[in-house]
Amino acid sequence: MQSANDLKQLLFSINHKSYPAYKSTRGAYQFPRYTLSIDHVQGDPFAAPSRVSVHISGKTAAFPAFLYDTYEKRVALQDYLLRQFARAIAPYSFRAKGSGKSGLLGISRCGQEILERTACVLNPSDGSLIVNMEIGFPANGRTIASQELICILFDFLPGCVEKSLFYRALDPKACANVAYLCEDQQAIRAALKEKGLTAFIADGSILPRETGVSDLPMKHAVPFTSPESLRVTLDLPNRGPVSGMGIPLGVTLIVGGGFHGKSTLLQALERGVYNHIAGDGREYVITDASAGKLRSEDSRSIRNVDISLFIHDLPGKSDTTSFSTADASGSTSQAANVIEGIESGTSLFLIDEDTSATNFMVRDELMQRVIADSEEPITPFISRVRDLYEKLGISSILVAGSSGSYFHVADTVIQMKEYVPYDITDRAKTTAAEFPPFTASVRPFSVPAFHRCPQPGKCLTGSDRTKVKVMGRESILINKSLTDLRAVEQLTDSEQLNGLAALLLEAAGHKMDGKKTLVQVVDLLEKQMDEKGLASLLAPGRPGDLARPRRQEIFACLNRCRELRF
Ligand code: ADP
Ligand code: MG
Repeated sequence: MQSANDLKQLLFSINHKSYPAYKSTRGAYQFPRYTLSIDHVQGDPFAAPSRVSVHISGKTAAFPAFLYDTYEKRVALQDYLLRQFARAIAPYSFRAKGSGKSGLLGISRCGQEILERTACVLNPSDGSLIVNMEIGFPANGRTIASQELICILFDFLPGCVEKSLFYRALDPKACANVAYLCEDQQAIRAALKEKGLTAFIADGSILPRETGVSDLPMKHAVPFTSPESLRVTLDLPNRGPVSGMGIPLGVTLIVGGGFHGKSTLLQALERGVYNHIAGDGREYVITDASAGKLRSEDSRSIRNVDISLFIHDLPGKSDTTSFSTADASGSTSQAANVIEGIESGTSLFLIDEDTSATNFMVRDELMQRVIADSEEPITPFISRVRDLYEKLGISSILVAGSSGSYFHVADTVIQMKEYVPYDITDRAKTTAAEFPPFTASVRPFSVPAFHRCPQPGKCLTGSDRTKVKVMGRESILINKSLTDLRAVEQLTDSEQLNGLAALLLEAAGHKMDGKKTLVQVVDLLEKQMDEKGLASLLAPGRPGDLARPRRQEIFACLNRCRELRF
């Protein structure tokens, strides 16, 4: 391997040359305490910045093994180190001057959730560490200004690396606390299973966010307090006893007047599939990790999904046991979302009436009298929600401020009143007994069969020159194929969409053959990530910064991709 000094000489020698001469710097260089690898050099100062990685041996990084002895703890430690490193380099970004992106120092920006990312990878077998970052190689116009790059690589970066990625420079207590919090969060996840709960919200949690566009905790919010009847106390390995509301398995209804905090509670549950960082307010809000938000999603594409559980005898006699459309309605989209959710193996559905198709949720009595059941193609969710639980073991938590019919099918009813939850199950049941339950002559419940075998269109399997573009948290563009993910609300980070784009291409290129079922394809993708790591999905020309999406979002993405034939 070349030495750091070789790199310095090389940089001196190309100073004032034209920009492409930077390409000659590609390679690995031994610095005193780490290896610096220049992996990709940008074509000009205005292009996407160059990609540089820092490799630190296990001996030098020296993190004690108890900080990363489980998958979850390793992810939490990586996340913590990434945040430390991002903080360390931030003041140096654009300190080196020049045209375009000259002097930019960048790395993944983490939000409130702790995610596995390719930006920082600790190898569990030897404790070595790789951090992937971006550097805008400096130029004046298109003329190399290599003294500026020398400044970045030799003056700025070494200090940042030593200060934030070496255990001996970090606060050992802070590092241990990351592991302790993670152990406690995993203990809550394990306790959910033991105690027959779908979710837990600790007393004192802060659920609302600062604003609609900021995910930080709201200041001066009303802290969460559990109703006495639903309070459970969990004994966590590090924090000790923590009390909070345990939501039992089954059908749970969240009711209450407008603006009393119903949707805020449901949103916290949606995010509870992830672990949160200390200080977020939702550290101890933990939901069944397979939970899936269900909503209506006009205009999505649906491919051969058996939605007959909810929809049958459509005008024009389209076959609802294998339903396809390029432009779904509110109710057909929500029906497909349920069936695809079952296929993905979810055991909890989360539904907010604010974002549901009304005719999918319930039909009122008067409407039933005017329009006979036999003329109505939709079997509403209310007629299936109990069977979903009793026959398939899938619980539901629904926000329903306006449809009282759900009282009849609920096991637990929680009222939100000025952001405080009350258990009103008994009162709601007593009152409901005075009203006839929603009955419709519905078809018997039958478990949908899943044997769709996806096959990729040409647009996905093309050449190495596949173009991938990710638009924030909204959509993925591969060549000319757009996959709209705006309605997939549990995606929390644009890097998860980078991950999905890479998974989609991996599946199209190497996994789908028209014989494997969708479930088998997703199993293979997850197996690859488990065994070879997320970074195994990185390939030239694809976005470099990936975060691992959940199984549910992988299904959601494949199901929405219009270039797959099922
Ligand atoms: P609903 O769904 O019942 O209509 P939301 O959940 O949308 O109500 O909440 C209404 C408003 O109250 C939101 O602006 C939200 O940020 C705020 N809010 C929610 N929970 C709290 C809380 N615990 N403390 C303070 N404000 C809250
Ligand atoms: Mg609401």
